[in-house]
Amino acid sequence: MRKYLLLLITTLFFSSTNALERVTINITRSLNYDAQKAHISQKTVSNIVRIFSWKIDFNKDLRKGDRFIIIGNRGTAPSAIIYISGRKRVAVFSYIDKFGQLNYYDINGKSLYSSFLRAPLKYKRISSKFQRKRFHPILKTWRPHRAVDYSANRNTPVYAAADGIIQRRKYIGALGNAVYIKHGINYVTAYAHLAKFARGLRVGSKVKKGKVIGYVGSTGRSTGPHLHYELRYKGKRKNPLTWRLPKQKKVSKSDLKHFQSRAKAILRSL
Ligand SMILES: [Zn+2]
Repeated sequence: MRKYLLLLITTLFFSSTNALERVTINITRSLNYDAQKAHISQKTVSNIVRIFSWKIDFNKDLRKGDRFIIIGNRGTAPSAIIYISGRKRVAVFSYIDKFGQLNYYDINGKSLYSSFLRAPLKYKRISSKFQRKRFHPILKTWRPHRAVDYSANRNTPVYAAADGIIQRRKYIGALGNAVYIKHGINYVTAYAHLAKFARGLRVGSKVKKGKVIGYVGSTGRSTGPHLHYELRYKGKRKNPLTWRLPKQKKVSKSDLKHFQSRAKAILRSL
């Protein structure tokens, strides 16, 4: 019985890795529509959006003629997913870590999402923490402050807290000059009261963690130069100082060589 089971497992293993069965989603209308036409499960579509949202703005970047190639789609966990457009290629490969969790990593063995900076600037002190009630110095009323205020010198550079896509970049009333960055599907960070925006920064621009997006100022409803920094998870504001932020995952050193040779073989087969 055990021998038979082993044989069965071996057969399954080889048939799923050697066959490199592939399905292509050709974008003609939308990812959802075209995936359905290619008989790709809804679960795989949500996985694609979750994984690739760190590198692709699904509302703006997807064009007719772009493709997603799904390798080994026998189950719900493909061995590789590759996005190809006229401008770029993003490829991820499955890997099961020591905790038995399957995730997707790029050819260098890193997850597409970066870690977050704990603070997005060099600050002097925290002038106001995340709190349910704070006496507002200008409005003279008690109101929640669901953000962290970092006091800093005027024109101190402000950095993108993690890799992401610029969602808003404009003057927004009390917030003054503000930048919103979308990080994957769940996170948004906001930076307010900026003196000015970094040059060349546009809605839809991709930014890397640590890139300068603007400079500390006191625009909007503010009593002095500081950065008002918000962290949103699934639309709700969270405390940036205590929230457990995602950390970039890496393929373990001992598995990296094997992981990369498998990834290269898949890319060669395209
Ligand atoms: Zn604030």
